[in-house]
Formats: sequence, structure tokens, C-alpha cells
Amino acid sequence: MRLKKLEREQVRMKYGGRCTYCGIELGGRWHADHLEPVTRELIPKQNANGTWRLDAGKPLRPENDHIGNMMPACAPCNISKGSQSLEVWRTWIARHVNSLNLYHPIYRLAKAYGLVVETAAPVVFYFETVTL
Ligand SMILES: [Zn+2]
Repeated sequence: MRLKKLEREQVRMKYGGRCTYCGIELGGRWHADHLEPVTRELIPKQNANGTWRLDAGKPLRPENDHIGNMMPACAPCNISKGSQSLEVWRTWIARHVNSLNLYHPIYRLAKAYGLVVETAAPVVFYFETVTL
């Protein structure tokens, strides 16, 4: 659903103008994320140069497309979450450290020099730490 200006401001202020998930203060560019994803169908379309892309089509779970399910999110959180449920996304984020250790030599080097310290902290979203 396309939010009207006042509705969008209501969503932005759900957590005091902060991202629901990481808690960063939202700037002028933020996303209204669906907490429970609407998951859009993907439609293959051919570009003019012959390559293909997937365009977002109709929502597969339109019942989740309402203002009560919309959360203010910074672009990195919204893009990272995509159409994952909150718990799937939480697990996915928790595995980032493993991926960094496996595939990122600069990360391993920074860790070796004590610049990065792994804490094994659980992934806790900002909205889980605040009471309204
Ligand atoms: Zn965020």
C-alpha cells in the first residue's frame, strides 16, 4: 500500500524516528518495511539489450500490507531483511560472523590484530529493547 504523508510520518515515529531493527536515527531516506513480509511474485522481463531481470509483481500475502505491519527501517536493514521473516533474518544475521571468518581475509586480519572482537552476542533488534 502506498502511505499517505501523515501515515508515513506515523510509521516513521513508531520508534521515535529510529530504525525498528538496528536503532539508528532515520534520516530523510528510510523505508517502510513490512514486519511480516508481503513477498511479491517475481516476473521475468527482458531488457532492451536482451538480458533479463526480475520485476516485483503482486504481493503473495496481501493481508500483510497494512499500516500496523509497517515498520520504519533504515535502507540497509530493509534491504538485508528483504522478504525474510524476523526470525529467519535474525538467524541469517547471526551467521554473518561465520561468513566473515570463512570468506573475508581483511576481516580475519583485523581480528588477528585485535581490531575486531567477536562477542557471540545474540541478535537483538532495537524494538525489542524499548518500551513504548
Ligand atoms: Zn537499521
